[in-house]
Amino acid sequence: MPVVISLFNAFTGLAVGFEGYVLGNPALIIAGIVVGAAGTLLTQLMAKAMNRPISNILFTPMTGGGGAGEAIEGTMKELSAIDAAAMMRYASKVIIVPGYGMAVAHAQHKVWEMTSILEEAGVEVKFAIHPVAGRMPGHMNVLLAEAGVPYDKIFDLEEINGEFGQADVALIIGANDVVNPSARTDKSSPIYGMPILNADMAQNVIVIKRGKGTGYSGVENALFYTDNCRMLYGDAQPMAGHIIQHLKAMG
Ligand code: NDP
Repeated sequence: MPVVISLFNAFTGLAVGFEGYVLGNPALIIAGIVVGAAGTLLTQLMAKAMNRPISNILFTPMTGGGGAGEAIEGTMKELSAIDAAAMMRYASKVIIVPGYGMAVAHAQHKVWEMTSILEEAGVEVKFAIHPVAGRMPGHMNVLLAEAGVPYDKIFDLEEINGEFGQADVALIIGANDVVNPSARTDKSSPIYGMPILNADMAQNVIVIKRGKGTGYSGVENALFYTDNCRMLYGDAQPMAGHIIQHLKAMG
């Protein structure tokens, strides 16, 4: 739907530009071209991030979420905030993957505070941003910038994906679809073919989310059932606060 809206936005710009041409008004022509070009570019970027051609997005019927996907075996395994804090405190490298849940919980400031404590303790921390994480393009970048996270700690999918294998911990905060490994392997999944962040390749994965809710696509996430993944159930903001308390207590 956001891709379609973005395309309509581009058409609006082109219509204004055409109107300017008919009326002989250069201001309308320029404004229309700018809006049309921006909308077209945004549409293309979003379609590329989903690894789907625009025609496929426009003409494939919507599944309405909760799409098929292969059945997943195993159980989700829980851990406590103190264990999560200890795992990260004694790690060499932690990669944080923020998602929509971090945005709704307004947890970005706590997440940055937690990052600063870890860095003071000598842990290398990086942020991995998926192009469609959250609910609008650049959503995570805006939130992290607002919290004061320096740009040199924020990495795009292509830049960071090769580094998950060397990370001791991938900390997923309210993200789901953007780290779902079914997108690589399960052809029946509605998100099959979408590039994902390789969080599953980290030695340990910690996921902060409130419960067993699915993401925007409505698809179950196979990552949450893997042996190296532990669930830290709770709202992202208070949970980040609990981790900070434990980190401070560890010195
Ligand atoms: P998802 O929507 O896949 O998952 C968000 C997860 O956050 C949920 O599983 C939910 O689980 C959890 N959550 C919700 N509230 C909280 C909270 N307060 N605290 C902690 N966790 C919470 O998010 P992603 O960012 O991974 O993926 C974005 C999705 O949105 C993609 O499918 C993308 O295609 C789509 N999209 C992106 C757009 C963009 O331009 N960025 C535009 C439109 C759609 P639980 O309920 O268990 O807490």
